[in-house]
Amino acid sequence: MVSIPVLVKHSGRWTYEKNFEEYVTDAILLSTSTTFVELHDVLASHLSVDLTIKRILVEYQITPNAGQIIGIHNDMSLKVFILQKKLIQDMNCLPLYVSILDKVVGSNLASSSIYVAVRGINCNNLETVINTTNEGALVVCENTEALDVFEMDSVEVIISDPHHKHVEEDQVYLRKRILKSVMKVYSIREKFQMRSKRSNKKMYTLFCKSRNCEFLMRASGKGETKMFRIREFRPQHTCPLNDKIYPKMHATSMLIAGMVKQKFKNHKRKYSTTEIKNDMKKDFGMDLTYILCWRAKERALEELRGKPSTFYGKLPSYLYVLNTTYPESHIRMKKTDDNAFLYVFIVLHAFIKGFDHCRPVVVVDASHLRGMYTEAFVTVCITDGAGHIFPLAYDVLDSENDASWTWFF
Ligand SMILES: [Zn+2]
Repeated sequence: MVSIPVLVKHSGRWTYEKNFEEYVTDAILLSTSTTFVELHDVLASHLSVDLTIKRILVEYQITPNAGQIIGIHNDMSLKVFILQKKLIQDMNCLPLYVSILDKVVGSNLASSSIYVAVRGINCNNLETVINTTNEGALVVCENTEALDVFEMDSVEVIISDPHHKHVEEDQVYLRKRILKSVMKVYSIREKFQMRSKRSNKKMYTLFCKSRNCEFLMRASGKGETKMFRIREFRPQHTCPLNDKIYPKMHATSMLIAGMVKQKFKNHKRKYSTTEIKNDMKKDFGMDLTYILCWRAKERALEELRGKPSTFYGKLPSYLYVLNTTYPESHIRMKKTDDNAFLYVFIVLHAFIKGFDHCRPVVVVDASHLRGMYTEAFVTVCITDGAGHIFPLAYDVLDSENDASWTWFF
């Protein structure tokens, strides 16, 4: 096992010009097979850091002074650092910059879509902060073109997830609409209705629908940015029992669709209506009907992928392009009298040419399409001289009936 000496500069601060200043210099021996967790432990014991209340941020710069700052946040980024360190034998080059920061309390970093900005770095465009996926993995914002810069004195979590579950005072939300969405879900989970007062670009105040209740959430814009900070949050309800309305009707399919949309982003993921129903019960205590969940699912899919009917509208232009790309193909489409799609038949020129060299047995088979429009997809295949399947034609029919087969043949 080979060990390399590494210079450690800690307890300093980054300047605007990406220089690390006012630091204390130290050194450690780093084994080339060290893992990220081991490096953390070595640094913690060497620098006497209590990891239960503090956390360590490790970074380095490829070119010293004003160069890009690269964070070491997992085994892979540590390996990259070690490789570069091995190439440069000089101990003075490529030091590790170690910042010791307070642990963020009351937020769940493991849940996705939370942005973290790091002390001493000015972020004028938070969209550039990279999303962290696991706890302790902090990535530094590199943007220094100061326009409407704000400075952060300590580590601050900026919430960008519209379904964030925990609400408390001093939280910062990336946009007002995210805070609105979070509060909407909050009111459903806590089973009360809200009314807003003074809602504008700079202010957002919510009260309980009951006039005699002390519930309050008051947020306002953060400096010149579009972010919102919760200035005051009184979650206790003092409303009289007969005022408290338990609003089941409150959960609309639109709201549920927004909550489950993320799950459908991966088209391979199966997420059934029953699963939505169970998850809503488990996560938010909402008793929803099957039909509401089904509508929410349909709406979420429509928002992500568009309406199936609009794609049928694109068919004529698709067929036109297909025909110009493969000249001498045989492409036909039939519509009903009221201009609705009925059949399409496609034989590309290459299929026609290949037919001459195939065995004279043609196989026609239809299979039902799934989804909103249950039509039939028909393929015509043939085998070539080597016994391999060769496609001859494919088409879509409304269903397998006499009229469609007559048109097809
Ligand atoms: Zn109340």
